Amino acid sequence: VNRFRNFMAGRYGGRDALNMALIVLSLILVVIFLFIPIPYISFLAYIPLIFAVYRMFSKQISKRQTENYKYLVWLGKIKGSFRGIKKRAQDSKHYKYYNCPECKQKLRVPKGKGKISITCSKCQTKFTAKT
Ligand SMILES: [Zn+2]
Repeated sequence: VNRFRNFMAGRYGGRDALNMALIVLSLILVVIFLFIPIPYISFLAYIPLIFAVYRMFSKQISKRQTENYKYLVWLGKIKGSFRGIKKRAQDSKHYKYYNCPECKQKLRVPKGKGKISITCSKCQTKFTAKT
């Protein structure tokens, strides 16, 4: 144990979110590649794992921290765009989208109001539509 501790001294250790993600990704790929009948493709599954191990033993600690930080920023963006998609899906339950017959401007109107008159917010063209 002591020898291992000496060996790990000054190394990154890799107990961060990025390494967790790499290990999980590797496991997922192993399972996926079980179902893909291409020879040697399963080796690809170990690439994230190898990278995770490399990060663990790396001595460039600040570089590894930057990687993890970038990963977290990227993850935040992904989560944000998922929220956007979800919001639009919820929106479509309550709103209907029309394109203005004149200027093709996209217009959002509430659903379930029957026949209504819509005024384009861009060119003020009036048209009727059923919602
Ligand atoms: Zn218009």
